[in-house]
Amino acid sequence: MRFSTRAIHVGQDVEEITGATIPPLFISSTYTQEAPNVHKGYDYSRAFNPTRENLEACLASLEGGADCAAFSSGLAATTAVFQTLRPGDGVVAGHDLYGGTFRLLNKHFVPWGLEVVYADGESLEDFEKAIGQLSRPKMMWLETPTNPLLDISDLEGLSNLAKKHDMTVAVDNTFATPCLQTPIALGADIVVHSTTKYLGGHSDVIGGAAITRTAEQMEPIRFLQFAAGAVPSPFDCYLVQRGLKTLALRMEKHCQNAHIIAEKLLDFPQIKEVIFPGLASHPGHELAKKQMCGFGGMVSFNMKGDLEKTKRFCSDLKVFSLAESLGGVESLANHPALMTHASIPKEIREERGVGDTLVRLSVGIEDVEDLLEDIEQALGNA
Ligand SMILES: *Cc1c(COP(=O)(O)O)cnc(C)c1O
Repeated sequence: MRFSTRAIHVGQDVEEITGATIPPLFISSTYTQEAPNVHKGYDYSRAFNPTRENLEACLASLEGGADCAAFSSGLAATTAVFQTLRPGDGVVAGHDLYGGTFRLLNKHFVPWGLEVVYADGESLEDFEKAIGQLSRPKMMWLETPTNPLLDISDLEGLSNLAKKHDMTVAVDNTFATPCLQTPIALGADIVVHSTTKYLGGHSDVIGGAAITRTAEQMEPIRFLQFAAGAVPSPFDCYLVQRGLKTLALRMEKHCQNAHIIAEKLLDFPQIKEVIFPGLASHPGHELAKKQMCGFGGMVSFNMKGDLEKTKRFCSDLKVFSLAESLGGVESLANHPALMTHASIPKEIREERGVGDTLVRLSVGIEDVEDLLEDIEQALGNA
């Protein structure tokens, strides 16, 4: 079956007792046993839950992986993946990283014993050099497109490089979603998601997932899901699975609206630079065309002027909500330096291009004319 069909049908078998077309939610925390340790495969919901299993089956299928473990947040999934490593193990990560992942690595996993180095995600040479600095290189952590600068990393090239060094490749595929990019098909071993974003799609659930290429690679992650217990509630699993059913349709519109907005932004004199992988001027444009089947719904740009002007623009938007997060049907604007990326020290942030005039848009699926008019009025005031 093709992508949209799988998104709607995998893990959504008709329920046998009543014929319910949509599987019921299994909210029971525990399961009655016939005799001690004689049961139907379910004993306690932290370990096994049918509603969660349905979501996991669907996500594994959409990413082309062998198995999936769902978590209570994207960062819980990320944590479980890093927890499969041991003190002294080395991680090389792209330097334009989701702020929360950066914070988790630097404030928790480095003191705990991981060795972490950062490299330019657009440069294979830089990654190779970074691997050389690690005493025991074990994992490559990639995001593409990155947040908020939308850099594109060569997933196939970097996966090949990782294999040469016997490293596992983990990709945070939250921005692209499996609708636009499947890292496992390009050589990655683990895909991580914040299902809070496009997969849920309606800004009403926090969730995460890790998908692995092989069943064996899932074993330590599955163990941590059960043993550490950062599991999502059945209702949250249901919400994400409901979102998946319209993912392909939503992504098409997100991509379309974002492309129109990126091109229009170029015409405004108040704007210095537009960052969108769909623009021919983007350094990763050709690579994005090759490894993605759409450029996504995120657009970043730098305003001319200063922090005050940029803040004014953000506050004056009316259709766009000024809010953290992304990937919902509604359009959101974010000032990374003061909001999502505030936890990254100012010098590091600015060196990487996340300065005072940067704005990141998560373009929703509203009528694009309303979005454009909103940007225009807010720019007029700025
Ligand atoms: C939001 C996000 C996360 C973290 O996910 P939560 O669900 O908020 O824990 C990780 N990576 C990326 C790229 C994100 O956008």
